[in-house]
Amino acid sequence: MKHVLGLSGGRDSAALAVYMRQHHPELEIEYFFTDTGKELPEVYEYLGRLEGFLGQPILRLNPDRDFDFWLKQYNDFLPSPQTRWCTRQLKLRPFERWLRPMLDDGMTVYSYVAIRSDEEYREGYSSKHDKLIVRLPFKEAGIDKAGVLDVLEGAGLGLPRYYEWRTRSGCTFCFFQQKIEWVRLKEQHPEAFEEAKAYEKDAVEHGSPFTWSQGESLEELEQPERVAQIREDHEQRLARMKSKVQPNPLRPDSEPLDIDDLYGKAKVCLACHK
Ligand code: SF4
Repeated sequence: MKHVLGLSGGRDSAALAVYMRQHHPELEIEYFFTDTGKELPEVYEYLGRLEGFLGQPILRLNPDRDFDFWLKQYNDFLPSPQTRWCTRQLKLRPFERWLRPMLDDGMTVYSYVAIRSDEEYREGYSSKHDKLIVRLPFKEAGIDKAGVLDVLEGAGLGLPRYYEWRTRSGCTFCFFQQKIEWVRLKEQHPEAFEEAKAYEKDAVEHGSPFTWSQGESLEELEQPERVAQIREDHEQRLARMKSKVQPNPLRPDSEPLDIDDLYGKAKVCLACHK
């Protein structure tokens, strides 16, 4: 029997690791992180802090082939919400390759997943193997978004540092980012923004129908007038939100805990953003 818990570098999975350590110290859990090679430095820093709390290393699962390899396989088409080959090849495949020998040996594997009590259990999170059993401890214990924050604060971990400018883990160039997050990526990690721009330019030259951000290239998005427009739109949304909800004491700037809440689209991927 084996117990595994996947960390995305995000808030909820980190809180689940803390919760399991506190509430089920008897379980020998292997913590793992599937590394796309395109993660934010803040993610590695947070994983390091978490390792300190857990007192054990977090296993890094690397894809057998990197982003560039798969990009070529997909005819230079950038991944997109419609064609999400990145999660499949860079996140799910390494996990399956890691578990397969254990499952083939007849071992039962329990996988602990950070779906909260305030979230729907969505299709696709369930196991496709009868020896791989998915457990949802937060759902069972009624732990919601506020509960997750309590767990992280209580453990002295707090939120990952990228929360100062972006609320999702995952690749630097994740296409689920809102436009304001692209603007901030350019500010925070200009080299990662330039890399994304280069990928996009190459993909578009090869006939890719997708740009990273819907409806415009990053070159268009970074123009000063466009940046000003994106910022203004963001400020207006924030002001509307502030007039409706109580400010969160943990986020004094009153940015929402999930930026997608501000844009009316919840885009969460279990493997990348949990
Ligand atoms: S974080 Fe975004 S770009 Fe990276 S694998 Fe996940 S969905 Fe794809």
